[in-house]
Amino acid sequence: MADLALVVAEQQDGKLKKITYEMLTAARQVADELDTEVGVIVLGDGLDADALAADLGARGADVVFVGDDPALGSYAAEAYSTVIQRLVEDEEPTLVLFGMTPMGRDLAPCVAAKVNGGLASDITGLRVEDGELVITRPIFSGQAIATVRVKRPPVLATVRPNTWSAAQPAGDDEADVETLDVDDLPENAVHVLSVEAKESERPELTEASIIVAGGRGLQGPENFHLIEELADLLGAAVGTTRAVVDAGWRPYEEQVGQTGKTVSPQLYIAIGISGAIQHVSGMRTSRYIVAINKDPEAPIFKIADYGIVGDLFKVVPELIQAVKEYKAANQ
Ligand SMILES: Cc1cc2nc3c(=O)[nH]c(=O)nc-3n(C[C@H](O)[C@H](O)[C@H](O)COP(=O)(O)OP(=O)(O)OC[C@H]3O[C@@H](n4cnc5c(N)ncnc54)[C@H](O)[C@@H]3O)c2cc1C
Repeated sequence: MADLALVVAEQQDGKLKKITYEMLTAARQVADELDTEVGVIVLGDGLDADALAADLGARGADVVFVGDDPALGSYAAEAYSTVIQRLVEDEEPTLVLFGMTPMGRDLAPCVAAKVNGGLASDITGLRVEDGELVITRPIFSGQAIATVRVKRPPVLATVRPNTWSAAQPAGDDEADVETLDVDDLPENAVHVLSVEAKESERPELTEASIIVAGGRGLQGPENFHLIEELADLLGAAVGTTRAVVDAGWRPYEEQVGQTGKTVSPQLYIAIGISGAIQHVSGMRTSRYIVAINKDPEAPIFKIADYGIVGDLFKVVPELIQAVKEYKAANQ
């Protein structure tokens, strides 16, 4: 039937993650041109289908497919891919979008193998040309952009977070709800015994709109309070480099780059970071890049939109003060 663009939602405790709304924007954009409906599949345990239909409908989804079962409470490749496979075989969507997230990176190839579809990973662009989907994706650590067409339907793709803006509620349309068959799911090879949420007020690195990242120029872990204070004032996540992680100054989950996380925030502030290719490959698609470095020849300035050449121990406290004053004046 091929009249559906499908988004594979990500949720935690029934609350949809931002990447779901971003994928909804991407799907809606091409669905209008392809003249297809937009569906969102939400899997979990104890989901509120009516609330999902209201929320996703107001943001542009036509239909919400809900798979609700204890076996879907935590992400597991076997059960999730089986439910999605059944839906794809029933509905034959033109396009299936996953987040380029830990879940999506694992799930998308499983589904692609099961439905024999073509998969484009880490996409940053999606358009329709002559009725066909055309995808763009960074390659070679972001040094080049590849344009690809997936020849074997359905087209599956993982979407880089923060590339599309999140779909916002507009109006009070409700999406239709379809309840999915969750019988006879395969036994999961991995059982999640417990999930310990990290206690942090800061946004998750890959979801954050603003990232303040500190490098070896900070000279030691005791100086990262500067990065944290600026981040908290801006509602930002904290990022860092591998050099800092290897030195044991900051945890690995904050590492941005080739062997860390790929991020694409609206604003990336790189402080005391040289801009090695392995770091840049993880953040070069940020909307705006601000670099603070005392070395005017530092490679980070080649990709920065705004650069401050100076000693971070002087510049950052001034920046913190300026943000505080701005916030006080605009409260
Ligand atoms: C296989 C491989 C994978 C890698 N993966 C990653 C990865 O995922 N992520 C990653 O980040 N790196 C990665 N690296 C390491 C990468 O090559 C760099 O070594 C690392 O990014 C450098 O980190 P840095 O910028 O913090 O440190 P440095 O390169 O040491 O830069 C510190 C910067 O701080 C500036 N500075 C110093 N003092 C001040 C001051 N007072 N005020 C202002 N500026 C100051 C300096 O001018 C300098 O530019 C990888 C390397 C390899 C080989």
